[in-house]
Amino acid sequence: MVRYGMVIDLNRCIGCRSCAVICKMVNSVPPGTWWQRVETVGSKEHMVPVGEYPNLSEVFLPVPCMHCENAPCVKVCPVGATWKREDGLVLVDFERCIGCRYCITACPYGVRQFNWQDADENFKQAFERAGFEENWYAVKDYKHGYPFDHRTKDGRLVYTKTRPRGVVEKCTFCVQFVDKGIAPACVRGCPGNARVFGDLDDPNSEISKILRDRSVFRLLEELGTEPKVFYIPPARKTKRGEVDYKEEVKG
Ligand code: SF4
Ligand code: SF4
Repeated sequence: MVRYGMVIDLNRCIGCRSCAVICKMVNSVPPGTWWQRVETVGSKEHMVPVGEYPNLSEVFLPVPCMHCENAPCVKVCPVGATWKREDGLVLVDFERCIGCRYCITACPYGVRQFNWQDADENFKQAFERAGFEENWYAVKDYKHGYPFDHRTKDGRLVYTKTRPRGVVEKCTFCVQFVDKGIAPACVRGCPGNARVFGDLDDPNSEISKILRDRSVFRLLEELGTEPKVFYIPPARKTKRGEVDYKEEVKG
């Protein structure tokens, strides 16, 4: 049985946020919404190091959905719209979600987003904010994002670029690509090759080898959520013990 997970090597992350941007592009993520974020640990500003010269440190922390094995968001969903698939992906069925937002409250990693507007309205407002309102009608049929709806084998709608207003959305590990044997966009788009995606249950997969050979940690492990995103600590920049990841996840 396949069970997908991801390793992010914090030694290789350069904080460029390409992963967040490519995620937004391919998943048609609405303005003001990010399915993943990249923090500068301990700093209020991105890319501003912490400490005092010459003892400065700068560690970047990408935070996608952890696709928790024991996911609190799944437990609280009253209609079964959020569920964990056989391969470990935690997904949202956009035709079943009623927008109650219990899952947003339950997720300790702050990665779920509420879709406040219809896709057309989102795009129109973004265009207006950029100062191109007079051109809106010329481009109204343009939509960014992977163009096709994607359903699971049992017919559940887990990707559509025009998500309806009033549903909760989040990182899917790019289910529309993974089901075609293609890695998530953030993995392919990372210039530092910081991310490895693969099958945790295959002992010969690259991710399994990394987890055997390297020291890794997970965010908020003490909560028992069993995240399937693992981090290689930034040995080069600072010792792990000096970095308070817990505070970072709380935002
Ligand atoms: S794309 Fe890679 S290097 Fe850039 S912020 Fe994301 S994980 Fe870090
Ligand atoms: S990180 Fe949050 S949204 Fe993702 S599976 Fe865990 S609890 Fe659910």
